[in-house]
Amino acid sequence: MHPDLDRIVLTEQQIQDRITEIGADISRDYGDESVLLIAVLRGASLFIADLARRITSPVEIDFMAVSSYGSSRQSSGVVRIIKDLEELIEGRHVLVVEDILDTGLTLKYLLKNLASRKPATLEVVTLLSKEDKQRVPISCRYVGFSVPDEFVVGYGLDYAERYRNLPYIGVLKPEIYSG
Ligand code: 5GP
Repeated sequence: MHPDLDRIVLTEQQIQDRITEIGADISRDYGDESVLLIAVLRGASLFIADLARRITSPVEIDFMAVSSYGSSRQSSGVVRIIKDLEELIEGRHVLVVEDILDTGLTLKYLLKNLASRKPATLEVVTLLSKEDKQRVPISCRYVGFSVPDEFVVGYGLDYAERYRNLPYIGVLKPEIYSG
């Protein structure tokens, strides 16, 4: 385990096993229809890479980047698109790939924006969803894991741009924040 971590919440094996299951669910639901996976940079980059390889339906990949105003640990709900899609999504089956659903404010904004471009279908897959968190109602078709309401890092999730490369997900030692 990385020395800055207090404990591991999800092991590499747990994450990969669950992604295999979600990939099978998505493949079953979309069948031979082409699905456009859209990841929100940067946190979902590892998840989309692993998930895409577990889907047997035809897959295309595109990326968006957004910036949330306010501190990085607190979502303000005011979102700005930094990088837009390369693809037109009208009439297509779009599946937004998210790393973590916290308040849901970022995703709510994104979904509203994407829906206005008239995709045939618009669904969400999130690797993590925070339990008991006050959030705007978002219908998320595929959820990897529910996690406690703590700040987690690893597997794409950062603290000050670090720890994204850890293959597992864990909670940092408190002194890492204060130091
Ligand atoms: P929301 O708008 O749902 O509150 O925030 C979503 C975004 O906040 C996520 O995509 C992620 O970038 C960031 N975020 C929320 N919770 C965590 C967390 O526990 N750890 C990390 N590293 N980022 C988080």
